[in-house]
Amino acid sequence: MLLVLLGAPGAGKGTQADVLTDQIGVAHVSSGDLLREHRANKTELGTQAQSYMDKGDLVPDDLVIKMVLGRLDQETDGAGVVLDGFPRTEPQAVALDAALAGKGIDCVLYVKVPEDELVQRLGGRYNCRSCSRPFPEEAAGSGTCPVCGGELYQREDDKPEAVKNRLKVYDEQTSPLINYYKGQGKLVEINGLQKVDEVTSDLLKSLETLATK
Ligand code: ADP
Ligand code: ZN
Repeated sequence: MLLVLLGAPGAGKGTQADVLTDQIGVAHVSSGDLLREHRANKTELGTQAQSYMDKGDLVPDDLVIKMVLGRLDQETDGAGVVLDGFPRTEPQAVALDAALAGKGIDCVLYVKVPEDELVQRLGGRYNCRSCSRPFPEEAAGSGTCPVCGGELYQREDDKPEAVKNRLKVYDEQTSPLINYYKGQGKLVEINGLQKVDEVTSDLLKSLETLATK
């Protein structure tokens, strides 16, 4: 099974992907996490990606496509994959379809959240350096991750100027994918303004419907 989580930065894709991993066993493949790993390991790709990421711009398609498709190739057994943060442009979506050669993705779960809410969420967001889970400002006081004890920090791209730019980039380059996947009959829209567990339950319901089709 190959699922894609689509939605703006701050829509809760990463959080929901982790839950899907727990509940249905799919591997969580996050392009953002893969890129941050490359940066931490100071690989050539990590160095190339750095300036784009810190400004909230997209890393060039050819680099990201190679990285994610390479990661998907390693995922041969198991329950499948939930993709988080990829594809983010039309060329990436086309490259993914081409790589899957006819089989295609099973479903695109589009988590919809209005822009004013996104600005609020991202502005006060802290992430764990170890498990990369996000936490709101209130939880960041202690400086350590309540889940794994790792260090909490504010991502460079969660600072105000970069947040504005990321939302603009999403509007211009990623939101056209909503129609792209609607056209393929694969899009399911989920209300991302609900509580985390309500969003999860909607996601799981959509997947059940998918299974009985
Ligand atoms: P968010 O969804 O919260 O913006 P991510 O962790 O998914 O954060 O991505 C962080 C940054 O990594 C993006 O702003 C972008 O620079 C880069 N990135 C991640 N995925 C992609 C992608 N599919 N294409 C291009 N750049 C990407
Ligand atoms: Zn943690």
